[in-house]
Amino acid sequence: MSASRTSSVAVLGTGIMGAAMARNLARAGLDVRAWNRTRAKAEPLAAHGITVADSPGAAVRGADAVLTMLHDGPAALDVLRAAAPDLAPGTVWVQCSTAGLEGLAELAAFADGNDLVLLDAPVLGTRQPAEAGELVVLVAGPQDACRAAAPVFEAVGSRTLRVGDDAADGAATRLKLVINSWVLTVTHGAAEALALARGLGVDPEHFLEAVAGGPLDLPYLQAKSRLLLENALTPPSFATATAEKDARLIVAAAEAAGVRLDVAAAGAERFRRAVAQGHGEQDMAASYFASFGAPH
Ligand code: NAP
Repeated sequence: MSASRTSSVAVLGTGIMGAAMARNLARAGLDVRAWNRTRAKAEPLAAHGITVADSPGAAVRGADAVLTMLHDGPAALDVLRAAAPDLAPGTVWVQCSTAGLEGLAELAAFADGNDLVLLDAPVLGTRQPAEAGELVVLVAGPQDACRAAAPVFEAVGSRTLRVGDDAADGAATRLKLVINSWVLTVTHGAAEALALARGLGVDPEHFLEAVAGGPLDLPYLQAKSRLLLENALTPPSFATATAEKDARLIVAAAEAAGVRLDVAAAGAERFRRAVAQGHGEQDMAASYFASFGAPH
């Protein structure tokens, strides 16, 4: 593995987060090649000086580092398998998807078997911080690879929190799951309070005004409530279908650790119902709709 600073990077997965991260990498002066399963979503990146590749292999060929921002661990594994023949031994793989612990174990085994240096680097922050290059990068991996990948972290984030030397140990993914358990709990709390207000005939603005500025207020409560009250769930910052995936990763990790999480399990079920009602591609504030039988 080269310890020199990364100057070229392949971004695999240009969804909500990956596209924004790719743009910031290019803005920071890195040579960026991007690939996305649905090519049309990657094409606008060409206007930002990014080379849009036809295959994962074409994207990673000759790149110092590979950044994956795919839906989950199995998707990341499939894409890396497709890229494998074109990956130089020792390439640094900055794995940013929320993969969960089982997913990460599979990715780490793949990295090991293919002579890649894995940095487990899930991120904190949603669409807006991703667009602003203000994510918090949680990273576990060898020090020299982290140093080499520093230009990547600096371009996509405002802070990097290094939590371990060994990606496979899962320290970064475990922290990400704890953070997301909080994020999802707050999301459901806001959604259920607004659903209850609706059911009881309470003006939701009165609820938000009553807590405003006090210890029970939260910017996140106000932001998610506005999305619901202003019918602005599309485009999503964090899609309901993705949130259901993350909720299940949290529940699975808790079960494996012998920790009972009632709220997380109930939250996964709310997201499942909202997805079944057709809200999967809307912002996860759509948890709200799981409180009602018919579309609202
Ligand atoms: P997204 O917009 O839904 O993007 C998902 C990406 O994965 C797309 O590029 C999609 O390709 C690709 N993909 C899905 N299944 C695939 C498969 N089987 N093979 C190849 N590509 C596949 O999601 P996102 O919000 O950017 O999230 C990406 C990752 O970041 C997830 O792990 C999520 O949990 C995590 N994350 C999200 C947020 C957030 O607020 N949004 C914050 C932190 C972390 P297509 O375009 O072809 O569908």
